[in-house]
Amino acid sequence: MGALPTCSSKRSNGQRCRAPGTIETPDGPRCFTHADPERWREAQARGREARGKVPPLAGDYDLETAGGLKGFIAEALERTRAGELDTRRANALAVLAGVQARLIEAADFGERLKDLEGRVGLGAESWR
Ligand SMILES: [Zn+2]
Repeated sequence: MGALPTCSSKRSNGQRCRAPGTIETPDGPRCFTHADPERWREAQARGREARGKVPPLAGDYDLETAGGLKGFIAEALERTRAGELDTRRANALAVLAGVQARLIEAADFGERLKDLEGRVGLGAESWR
């Protein structure tokens, strides 16, 4: 196995591009930027636009508590409804929030169980 070929394009300063030429083109191996510069520029513009479009959160949420997560989700719902959140972002948030909710629930349950065990004298100590 040889090393990856280097991109065969020249950069705007006249030096050779040194990125790996991972995409084979009729003009030789090219890096992602140089294989399809038009598409690259479009992707960059879309990224800037998407980042610029997200306004800061209205509330200050403690996402480690059920109450904070609830407030955060309420705001995310409202923003998705208003079209301020794109579907991809909203979907990712929904998945992550679901995981976080289960973690909060599990931690809460663990603490309540520990508390209960302590009250009835069933802590780890009594099992020895
Ligand atoms: Zn290149």
